[in-house]
Amino acid sequence: MTPVLEARGLEIAYGNARAVDGVDLEVRQGEIVALVGESGCGKSSLARALVGLVRPTRGEIRHLGTPLDYRRLKEYRRHVQLILQDPGGALNPRQTVHAAVAEGPRLHGLKGDRVTSALARAGLRPPEDYLRRYPHELSGGQQQRVVIAGALALEPSVIVADEPVASLDASVRGEILKLILGLRDELGMSALVVSHDLGLAWNIADRVAVMYLGRIVETGTVEEVLIRPRHPYTRAMLAAASGTATPLQGEPPDPARIPPGCRFHPRCASRTDECGSIDPPVRAGVACHLASLHLTPLEEIS
Ligand code: SF4
Ligand code: MG
Repeated sequence: MTPVLEARGLEIAYGNARAVDGVDLEVRQGEIVALVGESGCGKSSLARALVGLVRPTRGEIRHLGTPLDYRRLKEYRRHVQLILQDPGGALNPRQTVHAAVAEGPRLHGLKGDRVTSALARAGLRPPEDYLRRYPHELSGGQQQRVVIAGALALEPSVIVADEPVASLDASVRGEILKLILGLRDELGMSALVVSHDLGLAWNIADRVAVMYLGRIVETGTVEEVLIRPRHPYTRAMLAAASGTATPLQGEPPDPARIPPGCRFHPRCASRTDECGSIDPPVRAGVACHLASLHLTPLEEIS
């Protein structure tokens, strides 16, 4: 089946910094993909490019097989909606909930009342109770539901959510994640959820893509990537998250100075001589010369 959203050979350069440096990624219909990695690895640049907000320097983005045509961006953005971390910043403080959710359909010339059904879909029930409220009269979780309702009112085929719960209280994070899961299960919607949090990926995703210094270094199902990780970077992140190892040492990644060979080699405990000169190709979802050797379950290494 044609992926709902694809990036092929995507590159985004800002001056001499390559924030995204040759990314292939796909989101299939009805699945949730978690894009994980340390802050500064290029996740947000990639997310913005996928919704058409940033124009890549090279490569292509496709929606249901059709390349993104920047002359028809408005039409594209109806189908591929972005949800950001901070709902307070995304909502206009002087706009009621009704006006906020009605705005997208109005801009796109869509008919019919889509507001109440979108609010109900986003878990704001009964929707009539919310229509005349302003953002400051809502909790952070309710604000994020309004933002999600605004996206749903356009009936997109895929949502790109950049750290959708990072600014919310721990108590409501689970509810928002459950809402996103419900959109997949009940509407067959697809989503790319960007997060630095591996626990979130575990809870919500069907597949995981791990990004390091502008490149996807490992992809696979949640079980493959988070239980049987093969890339040394994924293994280091998981070990640090589970408290069995200290966080990664060494130079923090700098997209203006991408190391030669394997970009992870200055921080990799498993590196060999070839790693400093030969860029590992992606094989079976992993960009590492030694990937086939790294099949030991994580608990057995320490
Ligand atoms: Fe480490 Fe070499 Fe694999 Fe890169 S290619 S992750 S340096 S072992
Ligand atoms: Mg970010």
